[in-house]
Amino acid sequence: MEESSDISPESIPKELHSEYEERPFRNCTRCGETLLDYSEGYHIAKIFKLAETIFEYALCFSCHSGLINEFSVDSKRALEEYYSTNMKPGMRLSGCGLCGLSKSEFVDLEYSVGALFHGSEMIEGFVICAPCMDSTNSLISIKTQGIWDDFLSENFPGVPADALPAPGKLGVI
Ligand SMILES: [Zn+2]
Ligand SMILES: [Zn+2]
Repeated sequence: MEESSDISPESIPKELHSEYEERPFRNCTRCGETLLDYSEGYHIAKIFKLAETIFEYALCFSCHSGLINEFSVDSKRALEEYYSTNMKPGMRLSGCGLCGLSKSEFVDLEYSVGALFHGSEMIEGFVICAPCMDSTNSLISIKTQGIWDDFLSENFPGVPADALPAPGKLGVI
């Protein structure tokens, strides 16, 4: 028998909590599915600016892969190639996964954090600093940008377009 304490959300780093709900994410931003017991896991993405959360979501595995599958083949290939070539393994949340800069160097500027969780266990986690976020912009096709814009306007109504991130910024692939 498995104990339900396997999924105690207290062990999730504060940085990956929902700022809006002031607790760990409980539900998928897109479909409302409960996350901690979601067997295939879930993704969290947040953007910080001046040490404040300016954007956040959590997506169950199914909504996340559904979104990625709609991206154009070229964008998917370009992003995957970019991340697999440039991502430094083992950085986790300590610094930029692309350029290796320590988080203390840019913690007061802008950066994004992405993570894959199973229950309360972080399977993968990475940070991307602002200059590295911008370096992925050219990899996104017009079609992919359109799909991303639709995703944002459906799930974040009322947020001004210029306050919303580009898909490469969050390392969504
Ligand atoms: Zn979902
Ligand atoms: Zn960087």
